[in-house]
Amino acid sequence: MTGRVIGMDMKEVSMKMEITGYEHLHLHSDFSTLDGFGQVEEYCVRAPKINQNFLTISDHGMMGAVPRQIKGCEKINDKLGKDTLSPIFAVELYVNRLQTEMTEENEGKKIYSSLTEIEQNEFKSSSHLLAIATNQEGYKNLVRLSSWGWTKGFYRRPRVNYEQIKKYKEGIIFTSCCYASEIGRAFERGGEDEANNMIERYIEMFGKEHFYLEIMLLDFKKQKPYDKFIVKAKERYGLKIILSNDVHYCNKEDSHYQRLMLMIQTNRTIAEIEKALKEDSDQDFFELQDANLWMKSEEELNAKWLSDYADTIPYEIFCEAKRTTVDICRKAKGVQLDRSLKLPVIPDGDDKLKEEIMIGFQSRGLPKNREYLDRIKEEYSLITRKGFTSYFLIQKMMTDEARRVCRDILGFGDGSQAVGPGRGSCCGSLICYCLGITSVDPVREGLLFSRFMSEARGGRSLKLEFSNIDPLPPDELS
Ligand SMILES: [Zn+2]
Ligand SMILES: [Zn+2]
Repeated sequence: MTGRVIGMDMKEVSMKMEITGYEHLHLHSDFSTLDGFGQVEEYCVRAPKINQNFLTISDHGMMGAVPRQIKGCEKINDKLGKDTLSPIFAVELYVNRLQTEMTEENEGKKIYSSLTEIEQNEFKSSSHLLAIATNQEGYKNLVRLSSWGWTKGFYRRPRVNYEQIKKYKEGIIFTSCCYASEIGRAFERGGEDEANNMIERYIEMFGKEHFYLEIMLLDFKKQKPYDKFIVKAKERYGLKIILSNDVHYCNKEDSHYQRLMLMIQTNRTIAEIEKALKEDSDQDFFELQDANLWMKSEEELNAKWLSDYADTIPYEIFCEAKRTTVDICRKAKGVQLDRSLKLPVIPDGDDKLKEEIMIGFQSRGLPKNREYLDRIKEEYSLITRKGFTSYFLIQKMMTDEARRVCRDILGFGDGSQAVGPGRGSCCGSLICYCLGITSVDPVREGLLFSRFMSEARGGRSLKLEFSNIDPLPPDELS
């Protein structure tokens, strides 16, 4: 934030307020479809600039950003030094207590129609619940929960129920989350009493050690009374509290684009909103989007507190809520993922590969001279010794299948358009040529196998290109 905040500039703000340390724990990337606008890589670049040592991504119901999150942090660490940025894994789960395990398509509709009218209303809503993994088991449990949501609990959104949460809660910190959480909805519906009941239910489910309250400094009109309530609940139940900013985009100026994106999601136009505002200027369109959801620095959050929230959240609690985010990150740091390549092992792969090579050698019409036969032997011996047999056979299956679909289903001649001739060093393999993975004879072209694979450094990956072929044959396109 630049400029002045109620007669104070940023310098004055920082002089007046303590820098406690702060880490974003609630952050959406563009994997939160039509909601999160920021890209993982932008967040990675901005994080060290605003003194963040951790990057948490908590997308809606999914963990698709994890590979990019890890790579993004590694790239920053390569550039700025080890331990500059560590990933923290999280999900903003969708919860519905009435969601049951579904095995068939459209089962959600059946469940819905079997419910009472009151239950039907409840079944329609998918409440938010922030879940942060604090150790290895916690990470696995996040994966289990989000996978269950997509495969068994999908009704409009990937959802989990209490049974699943209880089953896989280990190693996870849950928070009271945003206004769209069960606690926020209870507050909206029945005020403090109902919201307190919900908090008690969560304490019972997770224990005080694993359930934290969450406050946000937003312009959304209902946020202030809600934060006030959350602060009271903290005193009442003695719970820990975090500050979050429900980050949806990286820079302040991206707010405009995220708003447009949300309009696509909710089927509204700017003209409609302007008209509604003219008719009733009190309408709260922050409910649709808040202009505060960028990746703020601690100083920017301090300024926001000072200008808008000093009368809502006591200073000590505000500082404590910031500090707690750092504590959580320190605790949650160091989760290691098994990133080894997991390929199925094809039974009797070595024999199968030999067989396929012989068939290909024949059909390619290659000469049975010393040069070719020695080359095949050399390649075969290295591939089998290095344990790459299954890898080659799987690549063959992929290229064969691409040609088959192209030929039999799409009706394109012999299907050869589906796969290019081969890219890079894999064209140096005669076995790839025999298997039909590439269509370049490396002996004739004078290409070396050692550029692709050698005893000393193992192998390189096979880079294949599959054409994007229009499903209609050329004569039917017009
Ligand atoms: Zn939310
Ligand atoms: Zn969120």
